[in-house]
This record gives sequence, structure tokens and C-alpha cells, in this order.
Amino acid sequence: MENKPLVSVIIPVYNEAENIPIFFTTLMKVLLPLADKYDWEIIFVDDGSRDSSVAELRKLTDSRVRIVEFSRNFGKEAALSAGLNQARGASAIMIDADLQHPVELIPEFLKKWEAGAEVVVGIRKTNRRAGVVKRVGSCVFYKIMRRISAVEIKPNETDFRLVDREVIDAFNRLTETGRMTRALINWLGFKRDYIYFEANDRTNGRAGYGFSKLVALALNSFISLSLLPLKLAGYLGVFIVLAVGIFGFYVLIGKYIFEWAFPSSFSGSAQLALFITFLVGVILSSLGMVALYVAQIHNEILGRPLYIIRRKKDR
Ligand code: UDP
Ligand code: MG
Repeated sequence: MENKPLVSVIIPVYNEAENIPIFFTTLMKVLLPLADKYDWEIIFVDDGSRDSSVAELRKLTDSRVRIVEFSRNFGKEAALSAGLNQARGASAIMIDADLQHPVELIPEFLKKWEAGAEVVVGIRKTNRRAGVVKRVGSCVFYKIMRRISAVEIKPNETDFRLVDREVIDAFNRLTETGRMTRALINWLGFKRDYIYFEANDRTNGRAGYGFSKLVALALNSFISLSLLPLKLAGYLGVFIVLAVGIFGFYVLIGKYIFEWAFPSSFSGSAQLALFITFLVGVILSSLGMVALYVAQIHNEILGRPLYIIRRKKDR
């Protein structure tokens, strides 16, 4: 029998002690019928859990299980990156440990992969139990993100996704530390396909991502994927300079040259206010100039590769 492709399953774990046994049995049930088509490695990345998650993981005796333990909590994004760094598979599937991502869909992901997709993205249809704040927040986040960055991102895209070896290798070459895995994977490009799913309710434990952590992640993504926030002051400055400049020009001409033609009613303090606003505009546009250079530095420091090659054929 020919070689079966190895598929890695990457599971970030933070305080999921109660979920691990259930998750693992569910996963095994799903993988069993796929065992004659694929080899598996199951990589649990423990993100510095403070409960007995690690002990639970060590109880899993299956030889396909690999465990990566962080020295402390570094966040889910870091955990996913560690998993992708460690993965040896021809493709990798990232999935949450809390059973919110339906494990039964793994065969569907593999089908799309076999059909040629290099990135298969799980898209959440609804988020029944999430609070209003979280829901509105994520909606606003994706709206802004699509507007201000070149990265193609659909609302409700999750980290539940499959990536091909080529994508894993490209991802592993990225060096930036402030990262949002799903946005970066989107930045890489490649052939994408989607799977829509209904997120389950979290059965045990609490969501590790509170509101403030999510806001921090959102801000981080704006900054690392878009330069618009940086250039905003500059745009404002240019706008003020132009608007006030034209208006001020009109006032000055009316006042000192064509006074006889249309008596200007602008008082001295109005002119002063106009002048000061003009100066503010000048300052803001200079800030904008500085921002251009900072943007350049920012880009260089991110050190993203200039391009990503999908495949090469040399003769
Ligand atoms: N997680 C992690 N580190 C963290 C927080 C969460 O590795 O600091 C893991 C967690 O164990 C779960 C996944 O990331 O497997 C999703 O976390 P959570 O359910 O808290 O996020 P949500 O479902 O709200 O997106
Ligand atoms: Mg969850």
C-alpha cells in the first residue's frame, strides 16, 4: 500500500482540563474511519494552563499524541504558531479544545484539501451564546479590517482551518511577533475554500479571551496589517491646510485688496483663529510626513517576505 499522507491536528490548550478527555474521545471517533487514508499526529500545545490540563494531556497514551508545553501563558496566537512550527504533516488542521469547533467536520476539511484548496477556512454561521458586546465588537472589527487593510478577511472567519504544507512553510518564515494567525494566513494568499459551521456552546470552563484581550488583539491587528491609523493625522493635516488655506486666502483678498468691492466682515480674532487652525494643519501634515517614514521602518521591521511562491518547477 502506498504511503498515506500525514495530517497534523493542532490544538491550543489553556485551562481545558475538563474538556480534554471529551475532546480526545470525540476526535478519535472522527479519525478512526479516516485511519486507512491518512496518518495522524495530534499536537496539543499547552499555553501555560494553570489547571490540570497538562496532567490530562499526559494521560493520553496514544502514540500519535505530541505535547508542547509553554512555560507560561503566551496566548492562543503563539500556541497556534508553535503548533505550526512543530507540525510535520502534509497539512495541518487547527481546532479549539473546547469543542466549539465541530470535530465532525474534519473529513469535510480534508475533502476540500484533496480537491485542491491550500487553505480551508471554517466560517462560523452564528455565535449564539456570545454576548452582545462581543458580537457587535467582532462585527465592527471585521468591517474596519476590510476597509483599511489589503488582507482579505471574511466576517466570522475562525482559526478552525486546514493549511497545506506550502502554507505552513511560508507561515513559519514570518518573523513578526505581534501576530493574528488567521489574518496572517490570509495575507499569505494561496487557494482558499470555506466551510460554514454552527459553533457549539462551550460546555466546560470559561472562554480565555475576555473583552480586553480581544480589544488588544484587534488593535494589534489593525496596526500590523494596516498603516492607515498611522497616516490618519497626516490626512487630517493636509485637509485642514487646504481647507483653511483656501478660505484664508479668500478672507485676506477680500479684506486687503478688494475691500471696496465686498466689505469683509471678518473680525481680527476670526482671522487669528483661522491662522492658528492653519498652523495646526501644518503641524499635523508634518506629523504625517514623519508617519510616512515610520511606516517605512514599520514595514522593514515586520520583515515580511516580499512575495510567497506557491510552487516551483526547475529544469
Ligand atoms: N487558548 C489558548 N491560550 C489562551 C486562551 C485560549 O491556547 O490564552 C485556547 C483555548 O484553550 C481554546 C482556544 O484557544 O482551545 C479558544 O479559546 P476560547 O474558547 O477561550 O476562545 P473563543 O472560543 O472565545 O474564541
Ligand atoms: Mg471557545
